[in-house]
Formats: sequence, C-alpha cells, structure tokens
Amino acid sequence: MIHPEHQRRAYLQAMGIDVWLPRDGDEPGLVEQPAVSVEGLGWDDLRECVANCTRCELSQSRTNTVFGVGNPEADWLIIGEAPGAEEDRRGEPFVGRAGQLLDQMLLAIGQSRDSVFIANILKCRPPNNRDPKPDEAAACRAYLERQIELLGPKIILAVGKIAAQNLLGVADPVGRMRGRPHRFGGIPLVVTYHPAYLLRSPSQKQKSWSDLCLATRLVAESSA
Ligand code: URA
Repeated sequence: MIHPEHQRRAYLQAMGIDVWLPRDGDEPGLVEQPAVSVEGLGWDDLRECVANCTRCELSQSRTNTVFGVGNPEADWLIIGEAPGAEEDRRGEPFVGRAGQLLDQMLLAIGQSRDSVFIANILKCRPPNNRDPKPDEAAACRAYLERQIELLGPKIILAVGKIAAQNLLGVADPVGRMRGRPHRFGGIPLVVTYHPAYLLRSPSQKQKSWSDLCLATRLVAESSA
C-alpha cells in the first residue's frame, strides 16, 4: 500500500514537475512522510516503498536508496551501518574497499554476496558519511524488520558498532559485544568488527575470524 502524499510526489516527479519542500521543517508533514505500515508487504512492494521513501531528511540528499542485495532465502543476514558515497551512487551495499574485505570474509566461511543477504541500518547515505542519527535509524527500522521477517535468517551478523548498538538496543563498544551469541527477536546474532575498521586495524582480523566461526557454529546448531 502506498501513501497518497508519497504517490502524489511520485506522479509529479514522473511528470517532471518539481516538488518544493520547506527547508526549515516548519511543515514536517510535507518533509517527512508519516510512517506507513510495511506489514505484510512482499519483497517487491517493500523495495518500491523504500525506493520512494521520504520518512527522513536523508531522502533529500540521497542519489539512490540502498535496499540490500543477496539471496531472499539466505540463512545469513549481514547488517552494516549505512551506505557510503559509492553505495549511494550504485544503489548497492558494501561496494567500496570495505565491501571487498566483506566479500573476502564471506568467502572464508564458504559464503558469497549471492548466498547471503546484505543490508544496512539505514537505506540512505548520511551526508559526509556521518553516523546515523537516532531518528533516521528509527524511521528506517520498519524496513529492516520487514526484511528480517521475509528472510527468516538463521543468523544475523552485525558488522560494526552502529549495527550492533541499534539491533541490540545498547551503547556498548564492539569489543564488549563481540565473541558471544546474542539474539534479535529469537534469531541468533553475532557482533563483529566493521570491515572498514579492519582495514584500519588489521590486527583485529583474527578476532573477526573467530566471530565468523562462532556464527557458523550457531547456524550449524540451528540446522541440527
Ligand atoms: N559501510 C556500511 O556499513 N554499509 C555499506 O553499505 C557500505 C559501507
């Protein structure tokens, strides 16, 4: 189901008509689309909803939404923070240098970009790669939760502080969250370092490897 305001804007845009929005947010109803339920949406409708989303101000600066990629029946769900510049340009998560390292990490556990599903806490790029604001994460949350429902993964791998803190609702550093199993709505969840951090601190790769092994064990246990 598509919100009428949202639909109106899509039509205007398709007709090449500029939609003027208040800059100072004094009419928040026009800037931020009220949360429309995504309950019951399938993959295609959910993807379309995300592509047209104006729930937060990041919709004004994005080039593309970054819905997520991978196998819609994957056992593994990898959740990162938010799109960066390259991801915003291409509409795909983890395509920069950090993404290449993530690909290698997946390869090491016998997985690939096509066998897992990769998503982020935010579907739109925060300007200058700043951290997501709490209201942006809250506005985007329902999309991720619906993706999780549709996917029904056996394991969630939260990469980095922002993903882990948002999913677990805590403010702990990664060092305190990693290395042990957590749960997200009954689904096993493992926290590990963000690949961008591992590029800066390669000595931590060993710990990340042991987190991946833990996640692999949890998947095996849930399949047994
Ligand atoms: N970092 C993230 O957390 N997600 C991306 O999609 C790219 C970089």
